[in-house]
Amino acid sequence: MLNIVLFGAPGAGKGTQAAILAGEHDLVHLSTGDILRKEIASGTELGKQAQGFIDKGEFVPDRVVIDIIRSQIEQHPDAKGFIFDGFPRTTAQAETLDRLMTEKGMQIASMVALDVETGELVKRLLKRGASSGRADDRSLDVIRNRIDVYHRKTEPIIGYYHTQKKYHPIDGTGDIADISDRLRRHVKGL
Ligand code: UDP
Ligand code: MG
Repeated sequence: MLNIVLFGAPGAGKGTQAAILAGEHDLVHLSTGDILRKEIASGTELGKQAQGFIDKGEFVPDRVVIDIIRSQIEQHPDAKGFIFDGFPRTTAQAETLDRLMTEKGMQIASMVALDVETGELVKRLLKRGASSGRADDRSLDVIRNRIDVYHRKTEPIIGYYHTQKKYHPIDGTGDIADISDRLRRHVKGL
């Protein structure tokens, strides 16, 4: 099995690269953000709970995202592996994911971080907001808060995976195809 955490700030390109990598290796692409947006679009109770957090650029409570991850893993018993995109977002979530992996006889092979500087992130998110209509990409205040929350709560996860010798930063700038090449080269070596 090949289980990868694709890590990076909002706008780093996790969704784009996760989809490419999942296609190439026949892995299940698990984006908690995409799942939450679908729940919101369908007007489910879970979606209603999540929306307030997402609109402010805050995190949906751990229990909610962890339940999503657990149920997705259980829905794909024959998966060749998973790419986690946008999860974990806190060290506590990373610890819970490890426990869940152990429980299922699985493990994370690598945490690949897409490095992109803040100015470029803001530019990409505003561009995405203009085309996709994602509300949290259209407000500069919400974008700034998401990046701030990323630095405070998500970036410390790097230390967690670094200790496990699983942290692999790659340059997340340039052409999408070039970034995929860097990612592919790393994954081939796992
Ligand atoms: N979100 C969350 N936990 C998750 C995934 C997403 O709280 O595990 C929320 C959070 O409010 C985040 C939003 O959903 O700002 C969008 O997340 P996504 O990963 O899709 O966006 P990105 O950070 O890649 O721009
Ligand atoms: Mg995303």
